[in-house]
Amino acid sequence: MPALKENTIVYTCHSNIISALNKGTTSCKELVTHYLKQIEEQQHLNAFVEVYTDEALAKASELDKKYASDPTSVGKLFGMVTAVKDVICYKDHEINAASKILSNFKSLYSATAVERLVNEDAIIIGRVNCDEFGMGSTNEHSAHGPTLNGTNPEHVPGGSSGASAVAVQTGCCLTALGTDTGGSVRQPAAFCGVIGFKPSYGRISRHGLIAYASSFEQIGVLATSVEDIALMLEVMAGVDDHDSTVSTEAVEAYSNTLSFEGKAKIAYFEEAFKNDRLDSEIKQESIDLVEKWKIEGHQVEAVDFDLMDYLIPTYYVLTTAEASSNLSRYDGVRFGQRSEAAQNFEEVYSKSRSEGFGKEVKQRIMLGTYVLSAGYYDEYYGKAQKIRGAIKQRFETLFETYDFVVMPTTPTTAFRLGQQVNDPVAMYLSDIYTVPANLAGLPAITLPLAVHSNGLPYGIQLMAKPFDESRLLAFSQKTITEFVTNN
Ligand code: GLN
Repeated sequence: MPALKENTIVYTCHSNIISALNKGTTSCKELVTHYLKQIEEQQHLNAFVEVYTDEALAKASELDKKYASDPTSVGKLFGMVTAVKDVICYKDHEINAASKILSNFKSLYSATAVERLVNEDAIIIGRVNCDEFGMGSTNEHSAHGPTLNGTNPEHVPGGSSGASAVAVQTGCCLTALGTDTGGSVRQPAAFCGVIGFKPSYGRISRHGLIAYASSFEQIGVLATSVEDIALMLEVMAGVDDHDSTVSTEAVEAYSNTLSFEGKAKIAYFEEAFKNDRLDSEIKQESIDLVEKWKIEGHQVEAVDFDLMDYLIPTYYVLTTAEASSNLSRYDGVRFGQRSEAAQNFEEVYSKSRSEGFGKEVKQRIMLGTYVLSAGYYDEYYGKAQKIRGAIKQRFETLFETYDFVVMPTTPTTAFRLGQQVNDPVAMYLSDIYTVPANLAGLPAITLPLAVHSNGLPYGIQLMAKPFDESRLLAFSQKTITEFVTNN
């Protein structure tokens, strides 16, 4: 049996792994051993908070035996090795949401998404770093310390699912789960040169996902192939008794519908390309892709979108409001860390929270509390809700005519470490292209578009109407094979 090569992403997608497993040229045990070695070699990037070494090896041996006795008995994700972001529960495993306030906390149950992956024989190899409670765009706001970008460790991998992106980028696992409240799957995927996908709001259960902004977030997937994203999605999606916001919309066999027939109608926002902060190379490459689509006969048109300036304020007013409410449960009594210094009941709350939360989280709780306070509710929260409604409506109208909206994923390539730490507003502004999908509940994907002259990768983003995942993934597959990789 030939050994797997070291330091290379040998298998870029699950179907390649399945054929190797079928031929007997590899085994689950060998795969896991390969990934464990890779994780060890990439330790300096600080992507993994915890590696489930013994457990993953034991599970691999068990699956190899199961397969040997009856190849038809294994699940859809046999051979899929995946990592899970530190905000998604996995029963009996520690989870911290990258926060001191949850130090030593163990999940009491598994997230529905994780449970469904495990039921289909996926192997969870470890828990990966992120920004605290998913708040951030750099993975620097973490009690576990920053994660570094595998392409250039002087740069951040993006956030908040930065380490999920690095784990896939550096071949430490085939896929990783992230969460996306305002871009946290797509932005780090773009910064690390991998694919990142956020499904429609309500496509995947949020049960077992530590809440940051409940009306925005979804569990998403980072991978190196669209196929694997489709496969993971079809396993995780669909109704769940534990989460009433999950849609009853039928779950399709996304991995079987990856060929895109006919021509697409694609819109782009002129205002998005006029953004002063948009890097000129990213802009040019995005325009070139549009031209390539046109040559192929797809209809690509500029449309007006005059709500561009409202996106960031609306997102940050609403998400901080939701965060202030969601994070009120960390009171030093029911969850996590309790301050040793507390002298009375009130201090248990105030000291535990002051000691447990990091600066960025505190800032957002305060902002969220302010926008919800009696005197300012209408002026901020109420207004932002109305604008969110208008944004949703604008997309609804747009999708009556167009199949997809295209935008760069990020205005720039990955920031230098430390560059944004003291400038939260600059960090927030960099989310301009990813937040619309969350505000409107749309499925969205980033595909690695090119490598910048500075050596860092960047992506292009496609959005579709809610629950049109199959066409979005099919068109992404076509784009990545015909236009992007042949670049
Ligand atoms: N960067 C955005 C924020 O800080 C997105 C975070 C996310 O999607 N979890 O809120």
